[in-house]
Amino acid sequence: MKFKVNQTTVYFKIGDITKESVEAIVNAANSGLRGGGGVDGAIHRAGGPRIMEECRKIGSCPPGQAVVTTGGNLAATYVIHTVGPIYRGGQKEEASILHNAYLNCLRLAKEKGIQSIAFPSISTGIYGYPIEEAAEIALRICFQYAKQNIIPTELHFVLFSQKDFDVYRQTLKKLFP
Ligand code: ADP
Repeated sequence: MKFKVNQTTVYFKIGDITKESVEAIVNAANSGLRGGGGVDGAIHRAGGPRIMEECRKIGSCPPGQAVVTTGGNLAATYVIHTVGPIYRGGQKEEASILHNAYLNCLRLAKEKGIQSIAFPSISTGIYGYPIEEAAEIALRICFQYAKQNIIPTELHFVLFSQKDFDVYRQTLKKLFP
């Protein structure tokens, strides 16, 4: 499934983000950049130890911010590590932190001249953000960014299950009928 937003193409698929052939994949990291479960663990396993070496040098990343490392053994040249909010009921700035996480990944990509970037569904796994709400935030900021910027020229959403993909599809219909 794909959409054109000005000069940017936005793609949606079900898959494993570690296998994406894009210039940068986004990691839903923790603020210590220490690796962990979910997509974070999968990226470090598939990408090898060079990614963690660079994460150690960087040290940490506050929620809503983003940092970049090599893609190590991945097909992607870079991993952009961002830290989403831990969901604690919705009154703790979760929405703005999630918005900033997507936005700062896009800004960093543009700064590095990265043409194609793939996102997982940030914060909707271990961090517990309800995916219906998270998808709306993700889609709003990414489409808004694509309207105003040329780079990256490709945005990919790589969802890990049919259920997550369906939520994104429904949210797209709701936001952009
Ligand atoms: P968070 O801690 O930000 O919630 P998780 O990794 O637990 O991060 O989950 C974020 C999303 O990434 C979830 O929807 C999860 O199903 C998905 N996910 C897990 N592994 C992969 C993968 N290899 N590729 C794409 N998405 C993945």
